[in-house]
Amino acid sequence: MRIPLAKPEILDSDIDAVVHVLRTPNLAMGPALVEFEHAIATYIGSPFAVAVNSGTSALHLALRCLDFREGDEVIVPSFAFAAAGNVLLRERLTPVFIDIDPRTLNVTPAAVEAAIGPRTRAVLVVHTFGYPAEIDAIREITRQHTLALIEDACEALGAEVNGKKVGTFGDAGVFAFYPNKQITTGEGGALATSRPAIARRAKILRNQAKDASLDWTGQHTETGYSYRIADMNCALGTAQLSRIDSFMERRQKVAASYEARLSAHPAILPPKSACPYGSISWFVYAVQLAETFTRQDRDRLWQSLLDRGIGAGRYFAPLHNQPVLKGRYRQSGTLAVTESVASRVLALPFFVALTEGQIDEVCSTLLRLLTPT
Ligand SMILES: *Cc1c(COP(=O)(O)O)cnc(C)c1O
Repeated sequence: MRIPLAKPEILDSDIDAVVHVLRTPNLAMGPALVEFEHAIATYIGSPFAVAVNSGTSALHLALRCLDFREGDEVIVPSFAFAAAGNVLLRERLTPVFIDIDPRTLNVTPAAVEAAIGPRTRAVLVVHTFGYPAEIDAIREITRQHTLALIEDACEALGAEVNGKKVGTFGDAGVFAFYPNKQITTGEGGALATSRPAIARRAKILRNQAKDASLDWTGQHTETGYSYRIADMNCALGTAQLSRIDSFMERRQKVAASYEARLSAHPAILPPKSACPYGSISWFVYAVQLAETFTRQDRDRLWQSLLDRGIGAGRYFAPLHNQPVLKGRYRQSGTLAVTESVASRVLALPFFVALTEGQIDEVCSTLLRLLTPT
């Protein structure tokens, strides 16, 4: 791709931070891990952060730490990354799919409340594409109904609701640091929580469920995982996190440039760029094509961009349509918005180093492709 969909910014200082770890004997479970966890917790304003090898691992640990029982229901958007479906099925939980708002692409408090049934035990809120969900109002609902609340903030590091960072509202919040995210560790993720018992248990589970506080002969009281993250990754994460304000500001500028060029076109609906109750941390720039466009139209456009060396993405194929989920979920209300949005969404190249010239090229190519010949 001449203009990729995503690209991390790796400076010499990032490289130095990784090399520094490589010159020490501590490549895993060392001081860089402790430092990264402290940096994440401090930045989002959470008492605890537990770093792991992926966002999916963090999400899995969040579920494990909440002690659900087989068949318990978790309310979740169908418009979400595959990780949500995978970890819920892995834990033998039943997803209850709900629809999203057509502009924020997030679940709404009303849809969450309407989906609660006798077996519902939790709500998994996704802050889609970095636009914060109405997590304050959703938290009120989960409190009233004594449900657990998990935030998938993997796309929303730095986003806020009423002055508080997302990922800190529920029992657990999870973040991811894949190279297309706001900050990267290569591969990596983190679980944030204000509950000491969850933080402690997550740390134990990530390392084979070895509880070092027990007698050596019997330290494994449940099944655990190998979800540790290496210290090299953590050092990269800490170095990247030190530039989060700059990353967010530059991503916001790229979003504004796209909006200025695309908003006048009748076939394109740019993403919502203001949040009345909080602030956005831009993750991708995903436009919606007009409702007259079919999925096939969108796919042709997507392929044409790729053919011209311009990265483009189709997020997300609805979870309720995935063969693996067939017969294994409940649905609340219609998923019409999810179906419609998923077939018309088109993500454009989006990263901090994207130049005005490149944005021009992406937009002029897109607009040309949209003009009937
Ligand atoms: C990136 C992401 C994750 C986690 O991804 P990993 O590849 O496991 O790090 C989870 N949920 C959402 C919504 C994501 O965008």
